[in-house]
Amino acid sequence: MSLAQRFPEIVRCREPLAPYTHLRIGGVADYFVQPRSVDELRDVLLACRQWHIPIRMLGGGYNLLVRDDPIAAAVIRLTAPAFTTVQVQGKQIRAGGGGSLWQLIAASVRAGLAGLETLVGLRGTVGGSVRCNVGDRTGEIATVVREVTVMTEDGTIHQRQRGDLRFAEHSSDIDEPVILSVLFELETEQPTTILQRMRKAWIVRKAQEPWTFQAAVRLFRNPPGTQASTLIDRAGLAKTRVGCAELSERNSNYVVAHPGTTAADILKLLELVRSQVKARTGVWLEQELHVW
Ligand SMILES: Cc1cc2nc3c(=O)[nH]c(=O)nc-3n(C[C@H](O)[C@H](O)[C@H](O)COP(=O)(O)OP(=O)(O)OC[C@H]3O[C@@H](n4cnc5c(N)ncnc54)[C@H](O)[C@@H]3O)c2cc1C
Repeated sequence: MSLAQRFPEIVRCREPLAPYTHLRIGGVADYFVQPRSVDELRDVLLACRQWHIPIRMLGGGYNLLVRDDPIAAAVIRLTAPAFTTVQVQGKQIRAGGGGSLWQLIAASVRAGLAGLETLVGLRGTVGGSVRCNVGDRTGEIATVVREVTVMTEDGTIHQRQRGDLRFAEHSSDIDEPVILSVLFELETEQPTTILQRMRKAWIVRKAQEPWTFQAAVRLFRNPPGTQASTLIDRAGLAKTRVGCAELSERNSNYVVAHPGTTAADILKLLELVRSQVKARTGVWLEQELHVW
């Protein structure tokens, strides 16, 4: 029996992943799973364990490059209401791992709770954003995370408290396969003050990013004390192109996928930039983009 036969209502076979990623690039997944409840998700994980099928969690696909070849895995997406609800409880907000970051920020601002508003304009799900510790110089999501509820490969659910979690720039040590939900702890503040900060963050972010109509993703983490884009420019690599993939003219740490770009183009460009920056500046850039 295959995964699709066992869960016919929620599993699709050989599903193209490109439409689910920001870059609109990538091959097919052997299995594409959208569970409807936590129990169903647990059953899927147990079946995958029994049949030795690797699991991959897909959020909004904003920090993800899917290779062109088929992905021999069960790709799981948490889109059902059981995984996307956002609930405000006093100064705390509990958000489902599959909920959108934007929905979470909007709920916090509406409730007069400060701490998430400077992340406005960043895209992704709550699970992907906490796993990747989204943020920039104005702040990062980790500062308001109180507890993360995860599910392990054997379907066990447990809570990881803030003190037990390690976050670094755009990364975390959350290595359990599934972030089910996250509890955030925020501070009350005048809604007008929060809104002002949110507007300012939005303007600054939009001025720095490539145009929103372009399919573009960030390649590298910023090394301590400098920007990856500064090093790339200093190495003389601005607007470098491989196939149809090109470094953005607005910010060299973003790759723009022009029509016809393949994952192989982006991977070649990424390696070229990394080796040239190392050769010309001595700095080894750490990859931010997750690659499947
Ligand atoms: C134009 C643009 C600008 C950006 N600017 C910034 C920026 O300024 N700062 C910044 O920090 N990021 C930035 N990003 C990156 C991106 O927005 C974030 O990393 C985002 O939070 C990723 O969330 P996602 O849901 O799309 O995750 P995905 O890209 O789908 O996945 C990323 C990783 O998280 C894992 N994952 C996803 N959901 C779950 C879950 N429920 N449980 C467990 N693991 C999960 C995936 O398996 C994968 O390993 C930018 C991206 C784009 C496209």
